[in-house]
Amino acid sequence: MANSFFSSKRAPYYADVPDEKWNNWRWQLSHRINTPEEFDKVIPLTDRERKALSASHLFRVDITPYFISLIDPDDPNDPIRKQVVPTDAEMVPFTAMMEDSLAEDRHSPVPGLVHRYPDRVLMLVTTQCASYCRYCTRSRIVGDPSATFRRNEFEMQIEYLKRTPQVRDVLLSGGDPLVLAPKILEEIISNLREIPHIEIIRIGSRVPVFMPMRVTDELTDMLQKYHPLWLNINVNHPNEISAELEEACDRLSRAGIPLGNQAVLLAGVNDNVHVQRKLVHDLVRIRVRPYYLYQCDLVAGAGHFRTPVAKGIEIMEGLRGHTSGYAVHTYVIDAPGGGGKIPVMPNYLISMSDHKVVLRNFEGFITTYEEPIDYTPDQAAKPLLKRPEPGQSGVLGLLEGEDLFIKPEGFEEIHDRFGIQHRLKDERKWVPLGIGPGKKEQ
Ligand SMILES: *Cc1c(COP(=O)(O)O)cnc(C)c1O
Repeated sequence: MANSFFSSKRAPYYADVPDEKWNNWRWQLSHRINTPEEFDKVIPLTDRERKALSASHLFRVDITPYFISLIDPDDPNDPIRKQVVPTDAEMVPFTAMMEDSLAEDRHSPVPGLVHRYPDRVLMLVTTQCASYCRYCTRSRIVGDPSATFRRNEFEMQIEYLKRTPQVRDVLLSGGDPLVLAPKILEEIISNLREIPHIEIIRIGSRVPVFMPMRVTDELTDMLQKYHPLWLNINVNHPNEISAELEEACDRLSRAGIPLGNQAVLLAGVNDNVHVQRKLVHDLVRIRVRPYYLYQCDLVAGAGHFRTPVAKGIEIMEGLRGHTSGYAVHTYVIDAPGGGGKIPVMPNYLISMSDHKVVLRNFEGFITTYEEPIDYTPDQAAKPLLKRPEPGQSGVLGLLEGEDLFIKPEGFEEIHDRFGIQHRLKDERKWVPLGIGPGKKEQ
């Protein structure tokens, strides 16, 4: 992009590659780096990297010439290098490490479709990516061409969505949906668009970051036929933001696709507030809204990337209030075992009484907010949307009086202590006596 604030780089090794090849995404894909011999020509390997590359059962390695060019070959701690070049640290096990820490496969009604939230699903459409992130949460399937999804599985996914009217949002992921053959990608998106209850389609892709040349006019012309369509990219460090990424994002934005970023908090890459501030500032410059900052999952191979949760809280403390609200992402922990994303942040609510709250701001200024004493909630408010399935109304269900408690499975049995049924155990005792919400229908 002419006059970009961001730079454009090409490793000396690629100096003689003609521009038509360099700017062709198929050339980038077919010239990815994955062997020690190739690495040594572009970024000489360290001993720990070499050791990892010669190990068996290593999570797949592949780096596009474009992306490897962003690495400073003289810096063994380069933040981009750490994301894509393996080291022997990947072979070190850690407590609580799992293969599928988010229990995605357990929450899949059909292969590749993860239906965890009431109104939206995650649809895995391929196991292939343009390059492979060493911290990949789906390394159990990603990279393995034999594990990828077949036509009959896409059909099962589409069939499930047709018969599941509560799904209004489908998130395409993988692997990376933008490495699919353009025809197959369009077929999937157009099939989804034909389902009337699917309101929005989202794509999660790191292709604009690994291979910005993939974002051609042809691609954006295709995508914009299927609006409303949203797209999240994954940038973890400001060094990934180049003139080429800026141009790719500009094309997507001009096609009317709102862009977000999902970053992962990674030790040695972006685990400090100064890098994070630069990251979010550079993202908003290219019109990408920081969406989530993820705590690194408990996935095998990624132990060395993990930070304490306190580091994430400290980063959020350094963003909120200090910079534009648009530049502040939400820090989340994706719950091990499959509970979904849980936001965590510093506490701003310091105390409260019956009609007053005490708050603190980012500067440590402590203030009070006086609440109304004559407030009556809108009693006539009726849900505008269908009720969620039983068991999915959550804590809001408690507030709305749908349930009095949420209890772990087996709770009653364990507290019954194998006791006998007796006169004090009359079930009616646990039905509220009052009137209004909270009173159970008898
Ligand atoms: C992240 C995720 C979503 C989307 O979550 P949002 O908070 O709506 O972005 C949906 N389904 C699954 C299984 C996910 O992991």
